[in-house]
Amino acid sequence: MENNLICNGCGIKLQTENKEALGFTPKSSIEKDQLLCQRCFQLRHYNKNATVPLDSNDYLNMVSTINKTNSLVIHLIDIFDVNGTLLTSLPRIVGNNPIILVGNKVDLLPKSTNQRKLKDWLFRLAKEAGLKVLDVFLVSSAKGHHLDELAVRMEMERNYKDIYVVGVTNVGKSTFINQFITRSTGIKEAITTSYFPGTTLGFIKIPLDNRSALIDTPGIMNTYQMAHYVSKKDLKIITPKKEIKPRNYQLQSGQTLFIGGLARFDFVKGDKQTFVCYFANELPIHRTKHENADSLYEKQIGKLLSPPNEETLKTLPPFIKNSYRVEEQYTDIVFPGLGWITILNSNVTIDVYSPKGVAVSIRNSFI
Ligand code: GDP
Repeated sequence: MENNLICNGCGIKLQTENKEALGFTPKSSIEKDQLLCQRCFQLRHYNKNATVPLDSNDYLNMVSTINKTNSLVIHLIDIFDVNGTLLTSLPRIVGNNPIILVGNKVDLLPKSTNQRKLKDWLFRLAKEAGLKVLDVFLVSSAKGHHLDELAVRMEMERNYKDIYVVGVTNVGKSTFINQFITRSTGIKEAITTSYFPGTTLGFIKIPLDNRSALIDTPGIMNTYQMAHYVSKKDLKIITPKKEIKPRNYQLQSGQTLFIGGLARFDFVKGDKQTFVCYFANELPIHRTKHENADSLYEKQIGKLLSPPNEETLKTLPPFIKNSYRVEEQYTDIVFPGLGWITILNSNVTIDVYSPKGVAVSIRNSFI
């Protein structure tokens, strides 16, 4: 019977079978005549936008309808996992619509961060990925940093057009949307009972004025995100909650750092020097010698070297090793979703290990 029912929030066809798929609602709520899908229900009652992991094709087909619209696109990314959260398929999804790239969670950066450099880097990455980015903003959805400036810019650019918010899971999209609603509309019950017919089902629409809306699209799980491979408990540990306190390690060549058991950094060649680690304050770092590193890993993974915990270990891909010769001063080795290590001196050789699929990258430092 429920096959013909639709969600009063977003218009998606309701189903009671698959919790993970769009349109899910428990049977009991249909019986009680509460015709909201779980996603809309959670947004309305808990101020939480539950993201629905979709397989990529479904997601792409759905959000690709944006390219037929004339709108402004806000692409939200996590500055702690830029590679894992920047949607390189965005041009296909949004067509020629202008994009404002928004790096979220800026409150976690240490005070020493040069935000100008960070913005320039994001601009460059976006350009390399073929994204037509109007502007880059660094915000904190949780703390509200720079949201007012962003709202002004959005208003200026949209010119009565709709705004689509696009981002993968865990970038802080629900936090952003909820902040935005409270600030700009004062509406507490965010979702409207009107919905788009046809292909735009599943989008949540928040009215901005008589003709246009802010439209939330479902988040997608990106398989390049560390978040994809770790248990909920471990995700809590690796996700910084407060401003990161840089941790300094004086190393000589032949020494190794383990970041929990989720990454490994071997200082192979170079003068004795300080390496600055930027990871969640709760994430333990262990120092050892190269010659002991393999056996320590074998014996202690999931124990001393944790996270990963047992649950994560069931799905965590094996380490892949990459070697780098760092020629320039102030270079960051970035472990997506975890953090980074800044190498202060030039002429350093390192080996780095990260779970297969979560590729390490290298950039000029922001300090
Ligand atoms: P979504 O999956 O993209 O909807 O992300 P959520 O809004 O659920 O946020 C994912 C996690 O990031 C949660 O633990 C949030 O508390 C946290 N978060 C979101 N925005 C910020 C932010 O600006 N700063 C910090 N420190 N954490 C944030």
